[in-house]
Amino acid sequence: MYRQAHAFLQRPAAEALVRVNKSLKPKGYGLLVFDAYRPWSVTKIFWDMASKEERKIGFVANPNKGSRHNRGCAVDLSLFDLQTGLEVPMPSAYDEFSERASPKYKGGPEEARATRDLLRTMMEAEGFAIYKSEWWHFDYRKWQEYPLLDIPFESLPEKP
Ligand SMILES: [Zn+2]
Repeated sequence: MYRQAHAFLQRPAAEALVRVNKSLKPKGYGLLVFDAYRPWSVTKIFWDMASKEERKIGFVANPNKGSRHNRGCAVDLSLFDLQTGLEVPMPSAYDEFSERASPKYKGGPEEARATRDLLRTMMEAEGFAIYKSEWWHFDYRKWQEYPLLDIPFESLPEKP
């Protein structure tokens, strides 16, 4: 959906994320960002492509309300191992629509739950709140105050 492999966030959220990444380093982990700011028209395309069922269960965001990602304060991410460069195991795959995606899911390997909880603790320490049904989705504080945006990636500065 994106023509560039970049992740963008509102400046306060981006700076907080850099701090999270720094505090994870001594623990041997780095942040693996899947998705961040998403232009509104991309949300609209996802919606248009989705089936009736996918819309009903909330797998895609309704463009009339917009996605939290449209505000530039939401980020989908996981952890990777700094030594191997590999993504760490989590209780579910990213973007998996199942009970395993819940941050409260108690099944699966204990190690996977521990890294999931570590990600959450580190993100919360810098002002991010986890989404109730997705362990990988976090919103930065006061996200409601940011407008829905439809600026394409091409028009955003790479290093502001
Ligand atoms: Zn998300």
